Amino acid sequence: MPSISVVMDILYCLWIFPMVGAVEEILMDSTTATAELGWTIYPALGWEEVSGYDENMNTIRTYQVCNVFDNNQNNWVRTKYIRRHGAQRIHVEIKFSVRDCSSIPSVPGSCKETFNLYYYETDSDTANKVSPAWMENPWIKVDTIAADESFSQVDLGSRVMKINREVRSFGPVSRQGFYLAFQDYGSCMSLIAVRVFYRKCPRVVENGAVFPETLSGAESTSLVAARGVCVPNGEEVDVPIKLYCNGDGEWMVPIGRCMCKAGHEAVENGTVCRACGSGFFKPSQGDHQCLQCPINSRITNEGATNCVCRNGYYRTDSDPPLMPCTTIPSAPQSVISIVNETSLRLEWGAPRDGGGREDVVYNIICKSCGGGRVGCTRCGDNVQFVPRQLGLTETRVHISDLLAHTQYTFEIQAVNGVSDQSPYSPQYSSVKITTNQAAPSAVSIMHQVSRTPDSITLSWSQPDQPNGLILDYELQYYEKSMAEWNSSVVRSQTNTAVIRGLKPGAIYVFQVRARTVAGFGRFSGKMFFQTMTEEEYQSSFQEKLPLIIGSAAAGMVFIIAVVVFVFVCNRRSSERPESEFTDKLQHYTSGHMSPGMKIYIDPFTYEDPNEAVREFAKEIDTSCVKIEQVIGAGEFGEVCSGNLRLPGKREILVAIKTLKVGYTERQRRDFLSEASIMGQFDHPNIIHLEGVVTKSAPVMIITEFMENGSLDSFLRQNDGQFTVIQLVGMLRGIAAGMKYLNDMNYVHRDLAARNILVNSNLVCKVSDFGLSRFLEDDTSDPTYTSALGGKIPIRWTAPEAIQYRKFTSSSDGWSYGIVMWEVMSYGERPYWDMSNQDVINAIEQDYRLPPPMDCPSALHQLMLDCWQKDRNNRPKFSQIVNNLDKMIRNPNSLKATTPLSSSVHLPLLDRSTPDFSSFSTVDEWLDAIKMGQYKENFANEEFTSFDVVSQMTMEDILRVGVTLVGHQKKILNSVQSMRAQMNQITSVEV
Ligand code: AMP
Repeated sequence: MPSISVVMDILYCLWIFPMVGAVEEILMDSTTATAELGWTIYPALGWEEVSGYDENMNTIRTYQVCNVFDNNQNNWVRTKYIRRHGAQRIHVEIKFSVRDCSSIPSVPGSCKETFNLYYYETDSDTANKVSPAWMENPWIKVDTIAADESFSQVDLGSRVMKINREVRSFGPVSRQGFYLAFQDYGSCMSLIAVRVFYRKCPRVVENGAVFPETLSGAESTSLVAARGVCVPNGEEVDVPIKLYCNGDGEWMVPIGRCMCKAGHEAVENGTVCRACGSGFFKPSQGDHQCLQCPINSRITNEGATNCVCRNGYYRTDSDPPLMPCTTIPSAPQSVISIVNETSLRLEWGAPRDGGGREDVVYNIICKSCGGGRVGCTRCGDNVQFVPRQLGLTETRVHISDLLAHTQYTFEIQAVNGVSDQSPYSPQYSSVKITTNQAAPSAVSIMHQVSRTPDSITLSWSQPDQPNGLILDYELQYYEKSMAEWNSSVVRSQTNTAVIRGLKPGAIYVFQVRARTVAGFGRFSGKMFFQTMTEEEYQSSFQEKLPLIIGSAAAGMVFIIAVVVFVFVCNRRSSERPESEFTDKLQHYTSGHMSPGMKIYIDPFTYEDPNEAVREFAKEIDTSCVKIEQVIGAGEFGEVCSGNLRLPGKREILVAIKTLKVGYTERQRRDFLSEASIMGQFDHPNIIHLEGVVTKSAPVMIITEFMENGSLDSFLRQNDGQFTVIQLVGMLRGIAAGMKYLNDMNYVHRDLAARNILVNSNLVCKVSDFGLSRFLEDDTSDPTYTSALGGKIPIRWTAPEAIQYRKFTSSSDGWSYGIVMWEVMSYGERPYWDMSNQDVINAIEQDYRLPPPMDCPSALHQLMLDCWQKDRNNRPKFSQIVNNLDKMIRNPNSLKATTPLSSSVHLPLLDRSTPDFSSFSTVDEWLDAIKMGQYKENFANEEFTSFDVVSQMTMEDILRVGVTLVGHQKKILNSVQSMRAQMNQITSVEV
């Protein structure tokens, strides 16, 4: 057999290095065998195991065959059982040499230069000499392998050996292991080395994630996905991170990635996320490095995502963490103020230090100072700031609608984005100014009170900024169809005027302006009003006639009826009656009031009384009102207490009068008339209207809440518990409220303690401006006696008002005297149980109420003055206020309590200390003097007969346990009176 010499020293240098990234896992390597390989040969004279040497002179084992001269060769050599170890695709690297057939002399044509490679899979090493059978199927052919290069003997001789290297792969394999077989069919060749391996992708850290070692797939084109796990302190970005291992055991391009989380930076080529060191931070996930803390911030912890601002420095939520921490700005600089009448322009320079920020804005704080007040108070809402008061970006502002001749302080605060984090208030520069004299502002609303064919009665609101005492108003008007220069002028000292001599059914243009010592203010906008046509006038007159009779004073009805009669029948009078409402337009019938004074307008003088509600009462959304509990019964429905929270204002306690369901339109109008009246008043002793709810049900009138309710019941509950000065203080408040109403030309007609409300500070306020009880023919309340044209509270009403309905501020003065008496007697009923007729008769005969117990003479004298028969002799409310003020300033004047004798006013019999002889027991007597609560105390101490009681001293009264000073006085007084009556009886008997 020809020999093939294998020169091993050149073999190893031809191994090709594995692919970069791939790992080859060897399953079998013939070159590492230290003893015989011992592969199975079939038939016996085929392959032959031969030893050789590698370049290091290590022994290696090879298989050779060279039966080229015999035909029909079929020589197999089978490896030992090779375990698969999980591989799915197997690679076989074969090194071999083949003798060139043409170099063999006289070789037959059957000489080959190729061989076949097979494999056979099995779960255990069960092969033997005959099994598996030496043939394709059961063996699976991998390939027929040809030499790229063959060699001749000459080559061998010259030591040039041609060694081929071929790699073949197969798969998928799934059994526990397999055998390989090499089939020769007539070549002269040598199997120098056989290496069997599979490939896998190694563990790698790629894109911030760790990928485990992964076996390649079964096919050369297979891709095996491996899920990566972020390195510690790394986080996946977007999609889950994946890497594919290809059939060659190489990783492909990764999908997704991990990045170091906030507070950590990537080091060591992105394979480690390391925490930021002290003084460094990293605000977010990402590839960037940790940064040094910005100015005015610091951090000592490792792994910081943010640095902390130093004391006095701050950051807003929107400040980037890289921005230095900032502080509040210093004060604005060099403020300049330019005053123009009641306006002011302020300019200033930006603060020296903006705190390190660009967002500095300015707030203006307005305080008005002086004007009799101690210190300064914040300006009201009416002061105007242009462009605005708070958050000014520019360094100037225009302020208007200040009061004339008033001192103001303006603080210009500089604030920036971090000011509200600082515990300190903003730094500011302030400027003091005093406003000058200024003309009044323009009148904003004018409305028509009534009209006839030749006249229009107009009324208007005072200017919002009178800027001084209004001397009068100038009304300019012209017919709309005529030129403006034709206009006429009317002057009025009040905020109302009647313009006469107009054409019927014509439209006129009106403008009004106010005048003070500073001159005229601006004219109001032009407003248009039309006179009635004759036809309208006639029909309106007929329609309203029943109402006139129902509402106006009887005498006046008669006068108007006559005028109507004259007008309708004769139509010759040039002096028309103004309207049926003329008598109620108190402002221009009375004629003597302060110039420019605001006056009351009767809502019923409006053609549409709803218009009056709209004008004088603020509409409140029902969602702002929370009803808590019922506190009383009103004329039209329940009175409740509750809360009112108007937008932008704090919640306040309120009283809520409701209109009961099922009301008529007339009842609604009468109910709301009280609000139209109350809404015109603004005085600390007049109940304040907050507003009305008319746009939803129930209709409500909302007023300030008076914690102690009505004065009469309040006094009865606190009998004897106030000092005289406290009582006079209450009376003073009521008189001040009445003076205000009187100045407004409003006649109350129902002044009584039940219509005065008391708050928690004992401030008394006049209330009850409902007109309805005078108008309705409802006799259910005995306080009010029906009379022609309305009802009258007889005990409180002046004689001229009872007799001929002369209701004036002087008749209110009479009622005030009765209220004084009610107050000083702690809510006693005036004229006690006398009938109304007896009261009328007694008054007619000059009887008057006596002083209540302990009532200072000066106060009773004031009552008697209020009850003067001639109303012109009664004191005006301004005099009453002055008088009471004097008493308060000089409490000694309130000491004397002996009733003054008067030849004109005969006091009625003093009923405050009743005649003891009309009672049979001490208990009855105690009940009569309203001290029934002490019956038991008296009995316990054996004060059970009039004889004993009449001898009681102050010590005795204390001993029985009467502790309230007022009650002690009442009992002592009654005891003294009893003693006096006993003496009288005794002397008569004598
Ligand atoms: P009037 O319909 O005004 O007579 O009210 C009926 C009752 O409701 C009064 O007698 C008071 O007890 C009570 N009341 C009315 N208004 C108020 C108020 N503003 N504050 C507290 N209680 C009030």
